[in-house]
Amino acid sequence: MEHNNMLKNDGLPLTPAAWMLGVRQLDALSFLDEELQSLKDQGLYRVPRTLSGQQRARCVFDGRSVVNLSSNNYLGLASHPKMVEAAVKATQELGVGSGAVRTIAGQMDLHKQLEKKLAEFKHVEACLVFQSGFTANAGTVSCILGREDVIISDELNHASIIDGCRLSRAQIKVYPHSDMDGLRQALEEAEGRRKLVVTDGVFSMDGDIAPLPEVVKLAKEYGAAVMVDDAHASGVLGRNGRGTVDHYDLHGQVDIQVGTLSKAVGVLGGYVAGPQKLIDYLVQRARPVLFSTTHPPAVTAACIAAIDILIEHPELIDKLWQNTEYFRSSLRNLGFDTGKSVTPIIPVIVGDERKAMQLADELFAEGVFAQGIAYPTVPKGKARVRTIVTAEHTTEDLDYALQAFAKVGRKLGLI
Ligand code: PMP
Repeated sequence: MEHNNMLKNDGLPLTPAAWMLGVRQLDALSFLDEELQSLKDQGLYRVPRTLSGQQRARCVFDGRSVVNLSSNNYLGLASHPKMVEAAVKATQELGVGSGAVRTIAGQMDLHKQLEKKLAEFKHVEACLVFQSGFTANAGTVSCILGREDVIISDELNHASIIDGCRLSRAQIKVYPHSDMDGLRQALEEAEGRRKLVVTDGVFSMDGDIAPLPEVVKLAKEYGAAVMVDDAHASGVLGRNGRGTVDHYDLHGQVDIQVGTLSKAVGVLGGYVAGPQKLIDYLVQRARPVLFSTTHPPAVTAACIAAIDILIEHPELIDKLWQNTEYFRSSLRNLGFDTGKSVTPIIPVIVGDERKAMQLADELFAEGVFAQGIAYPTVPKGKARVRTIVTAEHTTEDLDYALQAFAKVGRKLGLI
């Protein structure tokens, strides 16, 4: 059978235009035109903005200089000189790639060094790094429970947890957001089976923190394991950014902690921290570990340098929180609804979908980049502009953004 349909009969390649024409004649994907049009009609079609230069508190998107309130680069580490230096050195010494899946091609010393460092940092027995926070969540949830078991999940958990639940084939019970009566009911209904309760530590669209002590207490009562996704708490909450378990002083009481290396840590990746037997099992069974190549040396070396920075420079986290309090209280004083936010994720809740998108567009025209977010990412009627403050913002940056919010907010009748 001939696979190479880019070749003409005489063996010469078709030009791309002629090839596209061939594809168009048998357009079996025409249904996507309808789907795309439907997204456009609903105002939900997104074109990612293009950044020129580094991801910073002030930068240039789509040719416009803006105050950036859209990034998860909470501590400004994405371009930290020590991390860049570590990445360059690792690349020069070890190359740009890691070769293959680690259970096949093996792992580098560097990968083991990062995992040891993270385990010590989190005060747990062991740690396993995944390619992303997404694969850490989906790969873990999907592999530790199966058909006979029950996963009990907060309704606002991240998509990667939802996908992991579905892939596990376990029964899924979703409880109302942070509602402990709902959690108790789900636990009662799951009596007699293996159970996992899973929650985000910090919720990514609202910026509220899970009531982890209550979750742990209930889970213990019913013999369920607990997993927390600390994507937005890693490097943000707890001493030196150790996460929600440290924030609530629950060391030893949460079975599975997931963190990201892509947000406050400034690079890329996710990790699972917990008992040695959990990590041993994930290495045997988690599909992203078994079937996808591990990080290149540059990523791993930059993450190692980042953990040193978290330990040596807690003042970065103090600055993040000072900026957070200043920006949130100023938005509230202006009359905006910032919902239940208690972290650097600060939503400005608008309600109407089109108005939220208009607020984001007009803010951008005023030199402020904050993302408009609508259904299905948040419930219908709860559309918002989500702002994220970082340690890198100066008071001038934040005041500039506040002035723009005040101007556009008044124009749109929001305040
Ligand atoms: N969990 C939560 C709560 C998140 O917000 C995200 C990122 N949007 C992830 C997991 C996935 O992390 P990563 O970007 O490292 O894949």
